[in-house]
Amino acid sequence: MPKQRSVCLFCGSRNGKSSAYADLAHAFGRETAAQKLRLVYGGGGIGLMGVAARAAREGGGEVLGIMPGFLSSAENAFDDCTLEIVETLHERKARMATESAGFVVLPGGLGTMEEVVEVLSWTNLGLFPMKTVFLDHNGYWDGFFTLLEHSINEGFTSASVRDQAMRAHSPQEALQKLGF
Ligand code: AMP
Repeated sequence: MPKQRSVCLFCGSRNGKSSAYADLAHAFGRETAAQKLRLVYGGGGIGLMGVAARAAREGGGEVLGIMPGFLSSAENAFDDCTLEIVETLHERKARMATESAGFVVLPGGLGTMEEVVEVLSWTNLGLFPMKTVFLDHNGYWDGFFTLLEHSINEGFTSASVRDQAMRAHSPQEALQKLGF
């Protein structure tokens, strides 16, 4: 499946406290399959990552998992997808960006934050003309956007980041904002 029909997902390797997070990850995975998009993600079988990937496969969708070898047992590499094993976390992120036309961010922890902040900074430096959409439940990413606005208002971050980091309230809206 070409890059133009591929969406990259960043999300937690845990499920979070509310079952609504997994419901959202499931709905997102199913929507990628319904729209015949390829889901590109970290390749894990655990947490929201695993929920979204399984849902995409259940819906008949194509899934590419990109996993550093040293994480494959800790993150229970998902075997019902095309699994690409790489050496490092950096290589994974670069491959994810190369293989996709845009990013969706579901709730997640430090790993998710690290991934999305790096991608946003790449976009901000003009390295990638790609958009990122945060899709959440219960205002999970509100604090992140408050910090981003604070940083823009204090003159440390370019206001153009507002056009690159978008928000959506449903999988359909997220994919539509990425231009699918
Ligand atoms: P988390 O949001 O912390 O549950 O992590 C989500 C995913 O991010 C997991 O698959 C981790 O392997 C990955 N991850 C964790 N730390 C990093 C990092 N420093 N760089 C890239 N990916 C990471």
